[in-house]
Amino acid sequence: MKVLVINCGSSSIKYKLFAMPGERELVRGNIEHIAEPGSKVRDHFSGLKIILQKIGMVSAVGHRVVHGAEEFRKPVLVDKAVIRKIRACCQIAPLHNPANLAGINACNKLLPGVKQAAVFDTAFHQTLPEYAYVYGLPYEYYKRFGIRKYGFHGTSHEYVAHEAARILRRPLENLKIITCHLGNGCSIAAVDKGRSIDTSMGFTPLEGLVMGTRCGDIDPALVTYIMHRFKLDIHRMDSLLNKASGLKGISGLSNDMRVLEAKAKAGNKRAKLAIDIFVYRIKKYIGAYTAVMSGCDALIFTAGIGENQAGIRARACKGLFRHLKKQPKIMVIPTNEELMIARQAYRLISSCVSCSCTEGQERG
Ligand code: ADP
Repeated sequence: MKVLVINCGSSSIKYKLFAMPGERELVRGNIEHIAEPGSKVRDHFSGLKIILQKIGMVSAVGHRVVHGAEEFRKPVLVDKAVIRKIRACCQIAPLHNPANLAGINACNKLLPGVKQAAVFDTAFHQTLPEYAYVYGLPYEYYKRFGIRKYGFHGTSHEYVAHEAARILRRPLENLKIITCHLGNGCSIAAVDKGRSIDTSMGFTPLEGLVMGTRCGDIDPALVTYIMHRFKLDIHRMDSLLNKASGLKGISGLSNDMRVLEAKAKAGNKRAKLAIDIFVYRIKKYIGAYTAVMSGCDALIFTAGIGENQAGIRARACKGLFRHLKKQPKIMVIPTNEELMIARQAYRLISSCVSCSCTEGQERG
């Protein structure tokens, strides 16, 4: 069965085609500049058409959907009710979910009758206990408006945690794992017995670690202070926090960790400071998650920086577990969110075929 995995951003579609259940990757690609001035690709529908012309017919589609709020704890087959609920999540994920929906709608039109699965970035973190996800704000903001920690990169954290258990030949249910997804976006998760019990990203992906261009944790009072002092409106403030901060903002050079390592080596002080801050924040989170799980059996590094930059890993781990009697295994495990999505789509679609239902299932 050919399963197409689609990751729609506001102006891009990344895709991979897998032969399932063998998990062989057949094709991968990326369409960019969708709906941008001067681009030949007008919208996600035209983008998908180009992809399908290239790859031919597929048997199923798996979509990465960023925000599933509290509606989706697991991947689901797409039907009208699911589309309605994903649309409802747009209010709390206005940057991401509309693009994911555009991909789903384009598939509905171009691939009628082909089953689609939606796999949510937030779903894996739906197991967080209430005391970890409710903010210190008036409780009604959570109850009435869904303002709470959701966490992201869930598919990646889940994938590498499973891989770690497989490699260690131990049941996931017996392991305390800390997973560090360090790419342009960065997040850490505490995975206790296979369940995410805390994670560094929050209501949006801005919270937590210092990232390529995002600030991560800051004093929340700074937001109003900076807006007032520099007369910034909401959009400029949002852009400052999400696009001009983090490694790029601190160094004044780049959001690319490879560039910063090279510059730091050549003596650039701000590049060195950006790396110091980045590493220090990771260390604090690992320490905190080791404390809340009363130990750590495995520490996993993944994504661009986590997989490739040994210097950053070494510095984040230095002296970290000296106080523990039993040392955790420290592992590098390449993430593969698309394969995880293909697996989930295949699993849902095969079970749906075997139960011979014609409509997509409601959420599980
Ligand atoms: P994204 O979150 O955009 O998927 P990646 O996981 O590709 O990001 O990570 C990008 C970061 O990883 C950059 O800071 C980059 O410098 C760093 N990096 C280091 N080595 C590599 C590599 N071999 N390939 C890609 N990124 C790398």
